[in-house]
Amino acid sequence: MSTDLEQPVPGPIDADPHGTVRPATLAVTAGRPARTRGAPVNPPVVLSSTYVSTGTPPAGELLYARIDTETWHPFEDALGRLEHSRHPALVLGSGMAAIAAAMSLVPRGGRLVLPRHAYQVSLGLAADLASRTGLETELVDIDDTAAVLAAVRGDATRAPAAMLWVESPTNPMLEVADLPALAAGARDVGALVVVDNTFATPLVQRPLTQGADVVVHSVTKYLAGHSDVVLGAVVTDDDDLRARLHSYRTVHGAVAGPWEVWLALRGLRTLALRVERAQSSAAVLAARLAEHPSVVEVRHPSLPGDPGHARALALMDGFGAILCLRPGGGAPAADALTEAVRLWVPATSLGGVESTLERRRRFATESPTVPEDLVRLSVGIEDVEDLWADLDQALRAGRPA
Ligand SMILES: *Cc1c(COP(=O)(O)O)cnc(C)c1O
Repeated sequence: MSTDLEQPVPGPIDADPHGTVRPATLAVTAGRPARTRGAPVNPPVVLSSTYVSTGTPPAGELLYARIDTETWHPFEDALGRLEHSRHPALVLGSGMAAIAAAMSLVPRGGRLVLPRHAYQVSLGLAADLASRTGLETELVDIDDTAAVLAAVRGDATRAPAAMLWVESPTNPMLEVADLPALAAGARDVGALVVVDNTFATPLVQRPLTQGADVVVHSVTKYLAGHSDVVLGAVVTDDDDLRARLHSYRTVHGAVAGPWEVWLALRGLRTLALRVERAQSSAAVLAARLAEHPSVVEVRHPSLPGDPGHARALALMDGFGAILCLRPGGGAPAADALTEAVRLWVPATSLGGVESTLERRRRFATESPTVPEDLVRLSVGIEDVEDLWADLDQALRAGRPA
């Protein structure tokens, strides 16, 4: 019988690109200090802006904490492995810092194709780049594969795209993209494919294995998971792209603080438990909401009638824990719902242990194709019966007499 000390642990990231253990195990084992007698099981937090160094520094030597610092490494190693990259992830100060880094890969004057329904600030950044740098943008329905591929290929008046931006499932409409088909079509014209994998997490979908070039995360959401840090990350398997993204991070300076990264690694340890619980509760709630007299529409890829159901079954290892409902009755009915809940927290973020909900069109920047009464729900890890009871009472309370 082997002792604990003799059990194999994942090797160095270059030696073992795809790991020998399953993702839920990797989330626990990756990024630990070397297993030597007396070693701590958790990595230390190192608070130092600079490192002792003189002369021509050898490659990889730590010099200055904006360029690289060891407290980032365990989290970067773990996320790189979870996303099936040969390289560690690069952690940045927020999801938007990661998104800005990825969009910087579009060359001057290049075309960027994006989902119409996507994280609003990502679309806002693309619009800002378009107005200042000559980048061209085109919005598509990401679940309409033919339309996306037509936009990516271009035609007599449009050059082929330089980058295809994908969210799947999309925020907040939960459309599911045919990522392998989109990635293959983009590759044909030399377009980079970037996937914002925040909603799915690497436990549910690993875009690099389906042809994507770069994955971005708002680590703020599921990966950290406790609504207590703002953090982002990019992951790529490509040496050149990684060097460019690293350089972007260094010169633009949107770096992460060591404590935040340590907290994110601590959150990552329970990712599998949280995501499994949250997505099973989300499926239960979606099925019950679909029958509720005060609900006119529910979107969640777990529902057999959902437009994304078949694709999610084929391409994902789950359906995620974000769902949307429409109470009918426009903005007032949706606002009444978000005010009548007692357990659910009315708040804009998602992916935390606590369940949150929000009417998306309360923001003027949200796409006008999102219905006024659409409420996005992020299911947390509370008991599903308590979550249901609270939603049910709030829906009944908000129902016009
Ligand atoms: C929150 C979010 C972002 C932005 O991340 P921040 O950490 O808030 O900067 C990007 N994409 C998606 C899908 C998000 O939910």
